[in-house]
Amino acid sequence: MSISEIRDGDATRYKKRTSLADALFSGTRQTLLRLFFTDPDRSYTLSQLIDLAQAGRGAVQRETARLAEVGLITQEGQSRGRLYRANPNAPIFNELCSLTRKILGPAELLRTALALVSDQIDLALLYGSIAQGRDHAGSDVDVLIVSDELLLEDIFERKHLADDFSLYLHRPTATDPALAPPGCDTFYALAPVPHLDGDIDWAERAEPYRRAISEYLSQSLLPGLEGELACSMVTTPKDFELRLSSFKGAGFSLEPVLMQSAWFRPHNESEEVRHLYMVGAGTHPGAGVPGVISTARVLDTVVPDASVFT
Ligand SMILES: Cc1cc2nc3c(=O)[nH]c(=O)nc-3n(C[C@H](O)[C@H](O)[C@H](O)COP(=O)(O)OP(=O)(O)OC[C@H]3O[C@@H](n4cnc5c(N)ncnc54)[C@H](O)[C@@H]3O)c2cc1C
Repeated sequence: MSISEIRDGDATRYKKRTSLADALFSGTRQTLLRLFFTDPDRSYTLSQLIDLAQAGRGAVQRETARLAEVGLITQEGQSRGRLYRANPNAPIFNELCSLTRKILGPAELLRTALALVSDQIDLALLYGSIAQGRDHAGSDVDVLIVSDELLLEDIFERKHLADDFSLYLHRPTATDPALAPPGCDTFYALAPVPHLDGDIDWAERAEPYRRAISEYLSQSLLPGLEGELACSMVTTPKDFELRLSSFKGAGFSLEPVLMQSAWFRPHNESEEVRHLYMVGAGTHPGAGVPGVISTARVLDTVVPDASVFT
């Protein structure tokens, strides 16, 4: 499937609430701003704008004329061949690019970012509040990517550090700005790698791997990241082993193969050792904060009163 097949979902199925974009701009203006400022090097004829905006000719013509009149877009050429594009010399050009990317353009940004790996992707879905047009100041961007090439064999079988890493990117400052100094952002990128049975010298490989990830992000989702970094920190399986006493430096406890998942994980009350109780990611139901908290709640019900042991 090619990346152009990432489609916007049917937002009308959801109860419509006002999004950030709705509160700021009318429908047609939103679409035009998105077209012009999420891809500011691109030019459009009026017919293209009408097609892409899926709006009436009159509305598109009116809004385009308004944007041209105040100098936010430029026009070149005559009549039908006239081309419109964002005006990089407009005094608020940078601000508009940033704003439209944030509130109007996640699908566009994803298309661009995923184009680099489009041949490895079967399906990419943008879901959640942004896809439903219900985003607000605290919203994050929810993306689901389906691929047959998730590097599982590299990680679990060959225990090899793959060049074409998969990445989970999180921006905690979206919900808690205190996690970075004023005017800055914190990003966290997670790349799944093999545990310490792999023949990987982390002292040597960690920094080049970090740099490769940072360069990839600079070229895709976070343009210019490398030049903007104030500080960065890398945690490897070696740190998990040394600092957290994690077996083989595993970040997620027992491997989630079928016979070690859900009910098959060690139960919270040991079947082998009387009065041994277990809690945390390596036990039933499994890793992840909600699962771990569940294990604690289960213990609350199965651990007997202390008087039993006296
Ligand atoms: C990189 C990463 C990203 C994650 N992202 C998410 C996420 O987005 N959402 C989510 O729900 N979950 C996430 N998880 C999973 C989640 O963090 C874990 O499942 C959860 O923290 C496990 O909790 P725990 O209490 O079982 O173990 P831990 O939080 O690992 O706590 C175990 C503690 O025991 C200490 N310890 C070890 N040995 C000893 C010893 N002998 N004596 C004393 N102390 C010892 C360790 O140092 C550690 O502090 C992520 C995990 C990782 C590694």
